[in-house]
Amino acid sequence: NVKAGMVGMPNVGKSTTFNLMCKMSVPAENFPFCTIDPTEARVAVPDADFDELVEKLQPKAAVPAFLTCFDIAGLVKGAAEGAGLGNAFLSHISQVDAIFHVVRTFETTADGEAAIHVEDTVDPVRDLEIIREELRLKDVAAIDKELGPLRKEVARDGKNKEKKDRLDGMEKIYDWVAVQKKEARFGDWSSKEIDYVNDLHLLTSKPALHLINLSQEDFLRKKNKWLAKIKEWVEANRPGEKMVLYSAAMEQKLVDMDEDARKKFLEENQTKSQMGKIVVDGYHTLQLIFYFTSGPDEVRAWTIRNGWMAPKAAGVIHSDFERGFIKAEVYNFKDWKENGCSEAAVKEAGKYRQEGKNYVVQDKDIIFFKFNV
Ligand code: GDP
Repeated sequence: NVKAGMVGMPNVGKSTTFNLMCKMSVPAENFPFCTIDPTEARVAVPDADFDELVEKLQPKAAVPAFLTCFDIAGLVKGAAEGAGLGNAFLSHISQVDAIFHVVRTFETTADGEAAIHVEDTVDPVRDLEIIREELRLKDVAAIDKELGPLRKEVARDGKNKEKKDRLDGMEKIYDWVAVQKKEARFGDWSSKEIDYVNDLHLLTSKPALHLINLSQEDFLRKKNKWLAKIKEWVEANRPGEKMVLYSAAMEQKLVDMDEDARKKFLEENQTKSQMGKIVVDGYHTLQLIFYFTSGPDEVRAWTIRNGWMAPKAAGVIHSDFERGFIKAEVYNFKDWKENGCSEAAVKEAGKYRQEGKNYVVQDKDIIFFKFNV
């Protein structure tokens, strides 16, 4: 079960954003939305193709793909040394697979209070730096803990090739994270080094999606004095990682409106809610895709990692499907769409395929698994 965690300084809008995620509408009759744990939300991943499949097939139940999200309380400077609830936060981060890094650009809070910020002023680039530094320092400590004893072991027993290789890899990781002060996920690692990085469970190895929280006014006019600087920082420090601009205050307003008022507000301001985009971009940040199972009883999206082969993908439904995997009968949503939304037509067009255990499942494949019990 893949999870994303909300990370950021205190008072930047993490809880507001997290609560908005909990409220995002979902067919509640089919799936319990927020789990019992108030810090965990299962958010439906909005998808037009899923909607179309459900619309056409009219199954008795429809279950979309989900992303699990955690609310992680605020990080402050010094967390790696235990400031605030420091180490507890950091250990929560170690349990998620990706980080939603919430960044505050708004000066006054939604209820008009002046900026309350632990660092006294609003400066999103400084905040990005503080949090990156806390995660990095925690990683340096984790690497140090392994490296010290390993150095001694190799000094004692220099002929052990495996240990020597491991030491070389660890020294390289140490140099990257501790000396060059970079995040682990941007290092250039060999496959062996990737194993070492994975073994260390480094916080800076987790991909980040940057949620740039603006005041409603700034969001609507797409302007804020920090935006260019934030973009520059992300491009320089986290190449390839995305930013989503939104206003938690505006999203909150939208949730509180009735449907007519919401429609009117969105039309008048020529705007859209960004909550769906946050979830979809978060899902992609995690390298997740989904495939469908479909029938008259249920259409369902199943989350897998990009690159998984058919048996492993089947295992998401049930471990028996993986263990007893025989084959997968597959066509893609695209084939279905191009053939008049009809499985029979897909078959006639020769697009209904039999795939074996080495088949790499593609995004939005529609699959029927055959397996031995
Ligand atoms: P957290 O500590 O990061 O979880 O932050 P909260 O979600 O509790 O928000 C802190 C304060 O900022 C609250 O008073 C919110 O009402 C306010 N706030 C959150 N998001 C926005 C926003 O987008 N715009 C404005 N103006 N205020 C916001």
